[in-house]
Amino acid sequence: MTSTRRRFLRQALMAAGGVTVGPARVRAQSTARVVVVGGGFAGASCARALRQADPKLAVTLIEASPTFTACPFSNAVIGGLRELAAQQFTYERVAAGGITVVQATATAVDPSTRAVTLGDGKQVPYDRLVLAPGIDIRWGALPGYDEAAAAQLPHAWRAGEQTLLLRRQLEAMDDGGLVIMSAPANPFRCPPGPYERASLIAHYLKTRKPRSKLILLDAKDTFSKQRLFQAAWAELYPGLLEWVPLSKGGAVTSVDAATRTLVTDFGRHQAKVANVIPPQKAGRIAEAAGVADRSGWCPIDPVTFESKLSPGIHVIGDAAITGAMPKSAFAANSQAKTCAAAVVRLLTGAAPTAPKLINTCYSLVAPDYGISVAGVYQPANGQLADVPGAGGVSPADAPRATRAAEAVLAEAWFRTITGEVFG
Ligand SMILES: Cc1cc2nc3c(=O)[nH]c(=O)nc-3n(C[C@H](O)[C@H](O)[C@H](O)COP(=O)(O)OP(=O)(O)OC[C@H]3O[C@@H](n4cnc5c(N)ncnc54)[C@H](O)[C@@H]3O)c2cc1C
Repeated sequence: MTSTRRRFLRQALMAAGGVTVGPARVRAQSTARVVVVGGGFAGASCARALRQADPKLAVTLIEASPTFTACPFSNAVIGGLRELAAQQFTYERVAAGGITVVQATATAVDPSTRAVTLGDGKQVPYDRLVLAPGIDIRWGALPGYDEAAAAQLPHAWRAGEQTLLLRRQLEAMDDGGLVIMSAPANPFRCPPGPYERASLIAHYLKTRKPRSKLILLDAKDTFSKQRLFQAAWAELYPGLLEWVPLSKGGAVTSVDAATRTLVTDFGRHQAKVANVIPPQKAGRIAEAAGVADRSGWCPIDPVTFESKLSPGIHVIGDAAITGAMPKSAFAANSQAKTCAAAVVRLLTGAAPTAPKLINTCYSLVAPDYGISVAGVYQPANGQLADVPGAGGVSPADAPRATRAAEAVLAEAWFRTITGEVFG
């Protein structure tokens, strides 16, 4: 075949939306196609960062939902401090930036032909693929907890209907009712999230149903920002919020949705309202694409976020195994920018540079009481590791004015990040 004919065939394939023949890096930078699956904090951030790095890149964002509902601050919705509408964002501005937004569910990935299959069977070809599907619930990992049980005992760990269901159950409960939460073993989405939620439910009970009680059953003995949370609970919610760690029988071994009962090795706890935060795994497209390992999460190269299991596919956000870096929206956004920079370099044949990534997580213990943790991470031994001496947590002995200032900073952080990702 002559080189002219090869070029013609290649152009015809491209015009027909066909798959790339040969390695992706043979494409000129400006014609490369990057497909991102999942338009959350990781995916939408990455799509935007890719276009910013090279406005000529053909970036497609595949997202199942027309509206994104953010988890950060959804605990405040559950606690009656905020409406769900304040959590919701559309993709209009993302699309206006030149990104092709496809509202569809990605159901399969073929790494050999470099194409993503959508729910309706259509194929979307790519030169590099970024998967950012967030989490799925590991249904059945906790005996008795399946999708039907979640309609009785909401997890509310993906924001939306589940968030509202838990809030309505709390609102419908009589004063004096027992609320029980369960928190899973590591790793899971948002390490401080269960403790912030317990705090804001306790705040709701204290101010609206003061004869009620909250028990938090935990499959761990330690948790994020523990000293700060526990000091605040002793000050704000004495006698109202009880934390039961693993070593004192906190691990839930099964649930009975019909009677709202959570079972541990030490006994049965029957609740008026129960919030079960179950074990999790990477969003299911990760498994279908062959990038999840037996843990259910996705091993990645810490410099490029390229899958260790399938070259040409990058995984960012909660779905990825990122060593010391927690599964947070801030981390997802940070990883998205690093991954976008690496993808652009890889497409042009340049070597990616080793990144430094940042995370900060604010938690509200009450509406005017915020605490935070921050970390800086760098690649080390095939993982992301803490940069020694960087980061830290809010001071243990800070005055209430500092806590109030951190609550204001938390809200500002949410406005800034959602503005950057969706605004
Ligand atoms: C209660 C709670 C409070 C939290 N508070 C904070 C906080 O204060 N600060 C913080 O930094 N983080 C917080 N988090 C964590 C944060 O929400 C997650 O870490 C973050 O959303 C991860 O981003 P992601 O893009 O990986 O996943 P997501 O944001 O969940 O986005 C995944 C997207 O992918 C889409 N998707 C999945 N599969 C497919 C498919 N096959 N096809 C098409 N689309 C698909 C989904 O529809 C979704 O839009 C909190 C989490 C919870 C549960």
